[in-house]
Amino acid sequence: MAKTVYIAGLGLIGASMALGIKRDHPDYEILGYNRSQASRDIALKEGMIDRATDDFASFAPLADIIILSLPIKQTVAFIKELANLDLKEGVIISDAGSTKSAIVDAAEQYLAGKPVRFVGAHPMAGSHKTGAASADVNLFENAYYIFTPSSLTGQDTLEEMKDLLSGLHARFIEIDAKEHDRVTSQISHFPHILASSLMEQTVVYAQEHEMARRFAAGGFRDMTRIAESEPGMWTSILLSNRETILDRIADFKERLDEVGQAISKGDEERIWNFFNQAREQRQAMEIHKRGGVDSSYDLYVDVPDEEDVILRILELLRGTSLVNIHINEENREDIHGILQISFKNAQDLERAEHLITENTDYTVVIK
Ligand code: NAD
Repeated sequence: MAKTVYIAGLGLIGASMALGIKRDHPDYEILGYNRSQASRDIALKEGMIDRATDDFASFAPLADIIILSLPIKQTVAFIKELANLDLKEGVIISDAGSTKSAIVDAAEQYLAGKPVRFVGAHPMAGSHKTGAASADVNLFENAYYIFTPSSLTGQDTLEEMKDLLSGLHARFIEIDAKEHDRVTSQISHFPHILASSLMEQTVVYAQEHEMARRFAAGGFRDMTRIAESEPGMWTSILLSNRETILDRIADFKERLDEVGQAISKGDEERIWNFFNQAREQRQAMEIHKRGGVDSSYDLYVDVPDEEDVILRILELLRGTSLVNIHINEENREDIHGILQISFKNAQDLERAEHLITENTDYTVVIK
């Protein structure tokens, strides 16, 4: 039976989800809310949605499924608003926020006792781009799509959501909301704080030591790449996961102090062990096996998961020497494309960029 789906927020995530839903469910009606007209117009013109509004409450009563794809604060505000609307009985409400506890807690607080279902969600893919103009039907391909079930989620809710989102070609996974926020604080939120702090420290230092800018190379680039992320999104992530992130900061300060003490005491063995342990642990980690490349010239290509697509790219690059080729899979929030190709010098990189953009429709990003 055809359903009516309401996507609130036609940004990168919301509009890409609309495309993914349409892929497997062309008969579903997709309604879209967006504050600004630009993304509404693009989504309508490109056939991502069937009808658009700038009045959130107006379409909500029509929907079988409502997906809030907005900043975390706005997601919470709309959950509160939904509690006072006359919605279809059994409607599923879900979201896309990067942190989960604040959103799930709001749903539990405002929606409990109402004839609605709710499941928190976090699609672990994104890019540096924003708005409906950047929508990409392949954005979530093979990426983790995390559900955080709670007391408002029934087993059938997840099955219905997975069916709705089958065209995203994502990997569905379930985890408790609080545990989601703890895990992501360590592997995602805290590294963003570190990258931006290192960037800030270096810029201030370079005012006195001008050569610092010039000498900054591969290692520095690798450590600070994610400092280019969208500030609004990261502000809301930190503010909606405060305690957990503060805990990570306190823990890290202790670790830094320990290294500082070893240095001040000239404790060679301790320092050697510190580096050696980290090296062994990183080498054993999945992320490394999947292609940790030392400083090199990287190019990212957004390719669909289709047969022979990589062969086609390699064919184009025949004669250009590659250092590494890597497919970024489950977690693609901080990267710029699925296929990552590394070259040993800038000329090879430029040549490859030219060849791929001339001969394919794929988006190519150099970082
Ligand atoms: P985006 O900037 O592309 O889109 C944000 C949307 O929210 C736009 O439609 C915008 O009009 C709307 N919006 C912003 N403030 C609003 C307000 N005050 N009132 C009404 N509408 C408002 O961002 P996005 O990347 O699509 O992010 C959407 C959600 O997905 C966020 O919660 C983000 O944390 C989450 N998310 C983002 C990524 C990523 O890497 N971009 C990855 C996973 C999850």
